[in-house]
Amino acid sequence: MEDKKLLSVVVPCYNEEETVSLFYEELMKVIPFFDQKGIETELLYIDDGSKDGTVAGVRKLHEKDGRVHMVSFSRNFGKEAAMYAGLNESKGDYVVIMDADLQDPPSLLPDMFTALEEGYDSVATRRVSRKGEPPIRSFFARKFYKIMRKISQTDMMDGARDYRLMTRQMVDAILSMGEYNRFTKGIFGWVGFNTKWLEYENVERAAGKTKWNFWGLVKYSIEGMTAFSTAPLVFSAFVGVLFFFITFIALIFIIVRRLVFGDPVAGWASMVCIIIFISGVQFFCTGILGQYLAKTYMEVKGRPIYLKNNKNCF
Ligand code: UDP
Ligand code: MG
Repeated sequence: MEDKKLLSVVVPCYNEEETVSLFYEELMKVIPFFDQKGIETELLYIDDGSKDGTVAGVRKLHEKDGRVHMVSFSRNFGKEAAMYAGLNESKGDYVVIMDADLQDPPSLLPDMFTALEEGYDSVATRRVSRKGEPPIRSFFARKFYKIMRKISQTDMMDGARDYRLMTRQMVDAILSMGEYNRFTKGIFGWVGFNTKWLEYENVERAAGKTKWNFWGLVKYSIEGMTAFSTAPLVFSAFVGVLFFFITFIALIFIIVRRLVFGDPVAGWASMVCIIIFISGVQFFCTGILGQYLAKTYMEVKGRPIYLKNNKNCF
């Protein structure tokens, strides 16, 4: 007899006491689909150092249903670390990553699984609308994906979610990328494999509050750019060459003007402007360099991506 296949559902949670049980109930609605196919399920909540009743809530679910498990962190390590931990701890032949707030509708799972059966290694989702999101956030998010597609080799879809169902070989490929500065949206694209995209309308959070503010997203986008592209470094080198040429032309202009017209020294104000402008550009480029240096520094330290609090793991 063939061994039963296992589906692991990975759910990163940070202060999600209101949503963990809502999520469980919604997920249970699609479980019969997998039961029918003879596929078992494990539900892996990753507690990213929550300070509310998340752990207690999941413990209750665990007592009721042995398929529910929890991996708990010693502090908040961020969603990227939580996703890595989830993939690392999962045992399934298929693994899906989902948000706890039901913004990744479990009702899509049967369709996603059908695509895997067709031979895809991963089924990803993207939102085609961003309704219910602040317009300014949508605007910058769109711009970010546009720039990223231009400057990095990995394909990144606008509105792509982390909601993704994968086969074991894709999960293992992702786990083999042990970098400390993780940008999973880029990693998904980088590892390759056949990916099918499903689209759906944005769903608003079931309960609780979003963990992202504007600055958080700005930092996240800088993270993404430096992790998957070295184009900013090329850009700063380009700016250097550009200024060299401009200066060269300006020099010839000044020499010729002096010889032909014998101009006296003038233009103190414009000189100061140029000096300030150039030093601004220099600091900007040094800053770009610094970003990469900082990433390298963190990477070289080789710190663990997450630490578990074993007391809360079950
Ligand atoms: N999350 C996490 N660690 C964090 C921040 C968020 O594990 O430091 C989880 C959170 O509990 C949720 C998912 O990541 O399940 C998405 O977070 P959120 O809904 O706040 O983001 P948004 O949907 O607004 O982009
Ligand atoms: Mg959300």
